[in-house]
Amino acid sequence: TPSRKPLMAGNWKMNNTHLEAIKLVQQLGFTLKEPDYEAVEVVVLPPFTALRSVQTSVEMDKLALRYGAQDVSPHASGAYTGEISGAMLAKLGCSYAVVGHSERRQYHNEDDALVNAKVKAAFANQVTPIVCVGEGLEVRKAGEHVAYTLAQVDGALEKIPAEQARSVVIAYEPVWAIGTGEVATPQDAQEVCGAIRTRLAELYDGDLADQVRVLYGGSVKSGNVAKIMKERDVDGALVGGASLDPGEFVKICRYRD
Ligand code: PEP
Repeated sequence: TPSRKPLMAGNWKMNNTHLEAIKLVQQLGFTLKEPDYEAVEVVVLPPFTALRSVQTSVEMDKLALRYGAQDVSPHASGAYTGEISGAMLAKLGCSYAVVGHSERRQYHNEDDALVNAKVKAAFANQVTPIVCVGEGLEVRKAGEHVAYTLAQVDGALEKIPAEQARSVVIAYEPVWAIGTGEVATPQDAQEVCGAIRTRLAELYDGDLADQVRVLYGGSVKSGNVAKIMKERDVDGALVGGASLDPGEFVKICRYRD
């Protein structure tokens, strides 16, 4: 049986100054204990401006939580004003970078080719990409959600070798469920997360597909996470709004209790 450690990742989006970030990380860090980290991998995804403070906090307080960025440049370095490279993130101790979040696809016109370039940039620097995929409401209504989402997976992983794809994290986030309070049913989440795993087996092999963690994201809260986590192909959650409240995020990490 596959041994995929559940992953709970808090996407803070554009919230928290570096000072607020230190406070939140310490609240999480001093509440979560060894058994929590044995059961789940806990990750926070602060804004770029807070990453250095989060790194210091995690190192000084010897916290077992991991952190990452919400985006990464497809470029290695140079004249790209406003961008942050994978090497910069690696130097800050980032384990992860979110790539292709629906808000970036929507508001910054990120397409599959750019998402693919960002996946490559992350892997080139030993930063694990958390690739976000998922359909909007119109696609869902048309019944095209599986095909649409799998096409995004194909695009994100184009020419990514198996050695790298083995460690990728994929987050299925139906756009209609993000920040809306409308959570997908566990069956909806399983349908697409299962299809993603099947596609990974087709693109690579079954062994690799069994290792990759597929998360669900979209209005996850302490009250609905346990049911979603029961589904066989859901290996964790990408949590937006609920990750800003330390008590709530700790409860999400303790969904088994
Ligand atoms: C997200 O931004 O990845 C997300 C899932 O947001 P929320 O939990 O607020 O729906």
